[in-house]
Amino acid sequence: MKTAIITGITSQDGAYLSKLLIEKGYRVIGLVRRSDSSILKGLSYLGVAHKVSIEECNLLDITNIVGILQKYRPDEIYNLAAQSSVGMSFAQPLGTIEFNLVSVLNLLESLKKADRSIRFYQASSSEMFGKVEDLPVTEKTTMHPLSPYGISKAAAHMTTVYYREAFGLSAYCGILFNHESFLRRETFFVKKVIKESLEIVEGKKEKLRLGNLDVFRDFGYAPEYVKAMWLMLQSNRPDDYIICSGKSISLRSIVQHVFMRLGISEEVLVIDRDLYRIAEIVNIYGSSEKAKTVLKWEYNLDFFDVLDKLIEEERLGKVYYMDSGG
Ligand code: NDP
Repeated sequence: MKTAIITGITSQDGAYLSKLLIEKGYRVIGLVRRSDSSILKGLSYLGVAHKVSIEECNLLDITNIVGILQKYRPDEIYNLAAQSSVGMSFAQPLGTIEFNLVSVLNLLESLKKADRSIRFYQASSSEMFGKVEDLPVTEKTTMHPLSPYGISKAAAHMTTVYYREAFGLSAYCGILFNHESFLRRETFFVKKVIKESLEIVEGKKEKLRLGNLDVFRDFGYAPEYVKAMWLMLQSNRPDDYIICSGKSISLRSIVQHVFMRLGISEEVLVIDRDLYRIAEIVNIYGSSEKAKTVLKWEYNLDFFDVLDKLIEEERLGKVYYMDSGG
């Protein structure tokens, strides 16, 4: 039986990845910053909470990490923990850059000392590219981040590549574009639009307040994207891979689709300039050709179909949380 450690197991991706690994027969250890009753929400929703072991670990403290490695001797580590909000990173640049870089450095240093053959996955991001000149983005595209979050992920990415090349670590970077699910946090755009639109239908809310809708992003479906993380670590050659849908759509088209499906008038939409970002990527999409060719990762979902699925799941999910007292 293989053992995998997942940092940030309480994340959207942590829950779906846990489910995938448990189905594949892994022992899964999840690291959390603090244990409280809310941490298992996503894992419970997917029916796997009782199958993972949870450990508190401060990723800014290297001795903590070394202790966990000695205790569990993992085959694979998936590093998902991060201050993951671009918007929040403008308000908290120092905290974002400190945590998102130092935690990775501590993990890589621990692996260098403990066992360089442990396979390490770093959650890199399309936000590293920022101001892109040529589309689609590939693994060779120059980075030009436009937010403290993008800077933190670019620094962590380059640090991971450095440890791979300089010290022979089995370190892989998955450069993921936006991916969504029912378990996405409520401050993120797609989840917010679906959740608050349903509240408007139910008469609990009158307006949907959003920022700049005239930007284009490459959106995908999280349960399919975590499969790529696992596939990466099964390959014997550590490398970097872009994981994306391959096309961009506007945020406006997402709002229009959800409103159309729920029969909501566009009059409820309020564009709030306070929600605009300081610097904004106008349009970005990537190419996953390398992942499809080398890892045999498959993805061909249309995001508007994904949206329909998420609207339905949001309705049912609410019932689940009410029934379980969550
Ligand atoms: P989430 O936003 O759902 O969760 C973030 C995770 O990081 C949570 O487990 C959170 O723990 C943990 N975390 C945040 N800050 C700290 C901290 N200071 N100390 C310890 N843990 C912390 O993440 P996603 O599932 O959306 O993304 C997973 C990873 O992939 C992240 O690294 C993200 O940056 C990256 N990524 C995500 C993309 C996406 O579209 N979802 C795209 C590209 C990259 P807690 O529950 O305690 O808050």
